[in-house]
Amino acid sequence: MTNPLYDQLFGIHAGKESTFLHLVDGTSLTHAAFLQTASQIAHALVDRGLKPGDRLAAQIEKSPEALALYAACVQAGVIFLPLNTAYTTEELRYFIDNSGARLVVCDARVREALSPVTEALGAGLDTLNADGSGSLMEAASQQPDTFETVARQADDLAAFLYTSGTTGRSKGAMLTQENLLSNARTLVEYWRFTEEDVLLHALPIFHTHGLFVATNISLLSGAAMIFLPKFDLDAMIAEMPRATTMMGVPTFYTRLLSDTKFDGELTAHMRLFISGSAPLLAETHKQFEARTGHRILERYGMTETNMNTSNPYDGERRAGTVGFPLPGVELKITDPASGETMPDGEIGQIEVRGPNVFKGYWQMPDKTAAELRADGFFITGDLGRVDEDGYVHIVGRNKDLIISGGYNIYPKEIELVLDEQPGVLESAVIGVPHADFGETVLAVVVPEPGVELDCDATLKAATTELARFKHPRKLLPVDNLPRNTMGKVQKNLLRERFGDIFS
Ligand code: ATP
Ligand code: MG
Repeated sequence: MTNPLYDQLFGIHAGKESTFLHLVDGTSLTHAAFLQTASQIAHALVDRGLKPGDRLAAQIEKSPEALALYAACVQAGVIFLPLNTAYTTEELRYFIDNSGARLVVCDARVREALSPVTEALGAGLDTLNADGSGSLMEAASQQPDTFETVARQADDLAAFLYTSGTTGRSKGAMLTQENLLSNARTLVEYWRFTEEDVLLHALPIFHTHGLFVATNISLLSGAAMIFLPKFDLDAMIAEMPRATTMMGVPTFYTRLLSDTKFDGELTAHMRLFISGSAPLLAETHKQFEARTGHRILERYGMTETNMNTSNPYDGERRAGTVGFPLPGVELKITDPASGETMPDGEIGQIEVRGPNVFKGYWQMPDKTAAELRADGFFITGDLGRVDEDGYVHIVGRNKDLIISGGYNIYPKEIELVLDEQPGVLESAVIGVPHADFGETVLAVVVPEPGVELDCDATLKAATTELARFKHPRKLLPVDNLPRNTMGKVQKNLLRERFGDIFS
């Protein structure tokens, strides 16, 4: 009997006394001990009545047990559905209902609020807390520490991962064993992971970056992880000396750079820094290199596809680009209106095809049909272009494109200019309804701390660099930009907030 994902990520480590997780309290966990916990949990899941193909939804803090729950689901053939810890009970109702989860695992703090929801939806409810306590581990600890792995095929579903909800309501992406495994294999090779590696892991594990990219490739390569509960600047700096690699979202990098203790000496031994999930500013890339001598490797992926492109390991890691399509991934740039491939170098929608591309959105046949073509290409919703050297540039999201008076305006181009202005920390450019132009450009700007921004002067200075049709009609200062937990700017919220500014 085989279960490709379990066998290759987890099963290969059975009985190994090698370190899998370094924990903040100074202790560590071996591969063998981790797998024993996972098997105990798998028994507990079977006891709870879970069958292969059932869904288990988990809103739990990051902990070794939380990761073991993922392994247990794979071993028992249960579809794992991790949920953002920031979601409220009402939001959880949607995910539990939408996914038809048979069992929900939550933190004890939300148990009382959640139990009417799970009761009404006919799902079981267990608790698993950050310290590993709770009803799930109580049940698991009574169980044998080996479990007969449930047979699964490459095409069987392994996980439902909901998108981050940056552009609207989160969608449940159905991911197969092969989707996850093929991408992990590709990345291990591309980024040269080996069992010598120690990955500094401060990402959440309810998202593709921390769960599938970071964890799956560590497991597949036999690397260890320094498993931080969350990003903490002091802990990152304290742990850096025993790491060889790090993965982060762009804000990790800007926050590291904000600390003078983060320097060339601290990072001299590091092999690789990887960034993704949101655009890394070219400026951050440059500052990072100036400070540490390392060039951050930026890659591009999403919930529905895992990773699609990456800057090269050996060749030039080009700031402001996401590198080349990964081996096995086809990428094309198409005209949003016709679906035809665009001439070389022009901006269009990014489509990808490969063994990494998901099976569709759970119970959203219309959305699946609209975004996943019959020939296997997935319309990512991102706009980009491929330059003359083959590097992919992300220009923004299709939904954020501004069409004003018949012209296409790419917000990123304007944001880059605004961000350069003195006193500007960051900016977001959106399209808002306008009677004459259909849409017009609005710039929302966060001033640097303590700066009283002269909005007119800033706008004037920025517009000298931009064609007239791209000029923001107005510049509004705000204290901060709305962001989701992955640190992505939620422009739909800005459009809602400022949508009637010109009406
Ligand atoms: P939703 O689909 O619910 O609106 P989301 O697209 O933010 O949310 P994710 O799947 O977590 O959900 O994020 C994938 C998106 O993140 C990509 O489509 C892309 O827009 C962005 N992204 C990821 N990596 C990069 C990168 N290196 N540079 C620019 N954007 C990136
Ligand atoms: Mg998306």
